[in-house]
Amino acid sequence: MSHVVVIGCGIVGAAIAYELSRVNGLKITVLDQQPPAQAATGAALGVLMGAISKKVKGRAWQLRQMSLQRYETLIPELVALTGYQIPFNQQGILMLCFAEEDFVSWEQLLKTRQSQGWQLEIWNPPQVQSNCPQLRNERILGAIYSPQDRQVDPSALTKALVAAAEHNGVTFKFGVTVKDVTSVTTDSSEMHRCSQIHADVPLDVDWLVVAAGLGSTPLTAALKQPVDIKPVLGQALHLRLERPLGNPDFQPVITGDDVHIVPVGNGEYWVGATVEFADEAGDVVAESVLLEKVKQEAVAFCPDLAQATILRTWSGKRPRPEGRAAPVIGQLPGYSNVLLATGHYRNGVLLAPATAQAIREMIVH
Ligand SMILES: Cc1cc2nc3c(=O)[nH]c(=O)nc-3n(C[C@H](O)[C@H](O)[C@H](O)COP(=O)(O)OP(=O)(O)OC[C@H]3O[C@@H](n4cnc5c(N)ncnc54)[C@H](O)[C@@H]3O)c2cc1C
Repeated sequence: MSHVVVIGCGIVGAAIAYELSRVNGLKITVLDQQPPAQAATGAALGVLMGAISKKVKGRAWQLRQMSLQRYETLIPELVALTGYQIPFNQQGILMLCFAEEDFVSWEQLLKTRQSQGWQLEIWNPPQVQSNCPQLRNERILGAIYSPQDRQVDPSALTKALVAAAEHNGVTFKFGVTVKDVTSVTTDSSEMHRCSQIHADVPLDVDWLVVAAGLGSTPLTAALKQPVDIKPVLGQALHLRLERPLGNPDFQPVITGDDVHIVPVGNGEYWVGATVEFADEAGDVVAESVLLEKVKQEAVAFCPDLAQATILRTWSGKRPRPEGRAAPVIGQLPGYSNVLLATGHYRNGVLLAPATAQAIREMIVH
């Protein structure tokens, strides 16, 4: 049996563990220094912007399309296997448009998506008003409605993936930090192999999957092939209203000016998120004025939110690869058995199922 060790149990590591657990003949161990669904995953809003994203070709679109398709089967599959509840909003995403010129590119995207088998609708202001009467701002010139895009609770999903993978025989060890990795040179081609990792006890490995988010940088540095992942901080709020916004039977995710209003049930909403870059030294500290700005931007197009009670605020750090496109999925250069599944930046929840499938294909030819 090949032993696959996955470092990291955020949404990406958990999705990989579950996907690999469906393959016969693998022994799988997942290690994380924390419990599951902390770090970036614990802060995410879980908005899955696939059809409504502007990516139309190449890897960026393939990954999105693959994930959206997989989500439709993955959620019921996990619920059946684990009995866990996974909040999954299937009412789509509504993106507000504030400038005339947007519509030209949206019409183009609508045609492209049609040819790819996905549906988008362009709504005029009266359609926006009648479907979502909570939206009131004269700057709203229309909206794009994407009925096939989704939102999922990232923590609930990660925990269900862990439970399902465990059910299929995967071993999880939490509270275990991987400190170092030993490698050997295999043959004359000078490719290296990772042979052992050093956590609480040394573990022999046949395949190492680095799904450690921001922790991927020191791990790859230990293998002398550093992959630079920098933090981009995001803050968000959990709000409660006395009653749901607009029509209680139509509660899509609403996005305007890069601010999401995410319904989570019972008149409660997540609102976020800020995008705060690190300084030269790689440090970034949450700024409360920026969170207030996000709230005010949401209130500007959805005025009822001004009356909401703030239940909670939080922040997290998105893992963004420096100088290359997100995400980083593939073999670590110079190593035959080290795979990277990291640097998912703003779309790790969206792209986790497709990442897991890509890693599975690299391990099982
Ligand atoms: C505010 C906010 C909102 C977001 N909203 C969305 C959204 O709407 N949609 C979306 O798709 N994405 C969103 N994201 C992005 C998303 O959260 C990330 O892309 C995703 O969570 C990355 O997952 P991951 O598993 O790679 O990393 P993480 O969740 O960061 O997990 C990495 C894990 O590796 C572990 N680890 C690291 N080093 C080691 C080590 N040496 N040994 C053991 N364990 C280690 C850590 O403890 C951690 O648990 C958002 C992010 C933020 C902050």
